[in-house]
Amino acid sequence: MPQGTLYIVSAPSGAGKTSLVKALLEHLDGIGVSVSHTTREKRPGEVDGVNYHFVDRKRFEEMIERGEFFEHARVFDNYYGTSRPAVEARLAAGEDVILEIDWQGARQVRAQMPEAESVFILPPSRAALRARLAGRGTDDEAIIERRMRDAISEMSHFDEYAHVVINDDFATALADLEALVRGQRTRLARVRERQGKLLASLLSQDEGLQ
Ligand code: GDP
Ligand code: ADP
Ligand code: 5GP
Repeated sequence: MPQGTLYIVSAPSGAGKTSLVKALLEHLDGIGVSVSHTTREKRPGEVDGVNYHFVDRKRFEEMIERGEFFEHARVFDNYYGTSRPAVEARLAAGEDVILEIDWQGARQVRAQMPEAESVFILPPSRAALRARLAGRGTDDEAIIERRMRDAISEMSHFDEYAHVVINDDFATALADLEALVRGQRTRLARVRERQGKLLASLLSQDEGLQ
């Protein structure tokens, strides 16, 4: 079975990463998002096992010790990590997998899998970013201030990514992401791996000209 493609998607909190990835999955088959583990508090509306696997600090540290993380990092005041077995199984089954992770995690993934495709999502302005963080209504004012400061430091890493998408008009940003995935899927090596039978039959002399 040919391997799926691994996508790394990073953005400052509030840039629209979660909304864009959710919409992308509604437009494409054969692609899924990795559900991270985190020690942060669940926000209203979030569901354990869907948005994140919510675990306490002790459990997270056990997972680190057992080497269960593909990557992990401290972001804001919490720990976040990607389960290694979950991602590897899906890639091995031929599925494309998206990691929504921060720049520290992205570095760890690139070091292990240089062929991963990485994309950084930027907001159209600082004011828009602040408005989106506030509009989401899930964090209080102090947390929004902290996230704005952290966003600026996160954004300083945009040039470590092969692709940059500016999420101004949502539909346009979504189309940019979709084009990236579709472009990967038409690469010669991937078509050869997945459409071997078709390619052979098209060039075969056996069946005569139809
Ligand atoms: P994260 O958990 O920090 O990664 O972020 P979320 O996925 O929870 O998204 C936050 C906000 O973006 C929402 O409150 C929406 O107002 C806004 N938003 C999402 N999608 C759209 C869209 O298609 N159009 C517009 N105009 N706003 C959107
Ligand atoms: P992230 O996952 O990067 O933290 P979200 O997907 O939660 O960001 O988006 C932050 C907020 O901004 C959400 O309320 C979302 O609905 C809104 N949003 C996302 N993209 C746009 C856009 N292009 N225009 C306006 N609002 C947006
Ligand atoms: P949030 O708490 O808003 O959902 O996410 C905060 C930050 O944590 C985002 O920058 C997001 O990319 C990052 N993050 C989420 N999951 C992971 C993960 O599994 N690993 C790493 N390294 N970062 C993550």
